[in-house]
Amino acid sequence: MSLQAYIDRLEQFSAHFGVPVLRNSLVPEVLGRVEERRIVLRTGLSLEQQLLTLTHELTHLMAHCNANPRLNRTVCEYEAEAVERWVGAALRVPPYAEDWPGSSVTDDLLACSVVRVRWAGNTLVNAARGTLAAEPVRLQPQTAVEI
Ligand SMILES: [Zn+2]
Repeated sequence: MSLQAYIDRLEQFSAHFGVPVLRNSLVPEVLGRVEERRIVLRTGLSLEQQLLTLTHELTHLMAHCNANPRLNRTVCEYEAEAVERWVGAALRVPPYAEDWPGSSVTDDLLACSVVRVRWAGNTLVNAARGTLAAEPVRLQPQTAVEI
């Protein structure tokens, strides 16, 4: 499947939840961001950058934006980067096309973060591949142990 097809499916996934994906000029160090109920990607990104940045921002939308209590910003960035890497490895997107080390690396250290990362990553991989389960998809994990 092409990178553009993955991007299209993730944009459809986002739009399904009322969050359109737009391209606009952003400051050079920002590739994308969540703005209220939309995701903005910087214009001019390569397909690889679009896919990974969209994954990153969707993770913030899914796992962080409505978290209660609020999550530490560093933890949010750690998780979004982990999902970005996870999805990049699963979909063979450079520079993450090499093998992902697996889920056991941080299981004991950041168990709650790993659960959120695994859940968001698996959901986005299935969304990009068009293999989402038939049941309704949620934008928050249902339980702390759901993976
Ligand atoms: Zn971020």
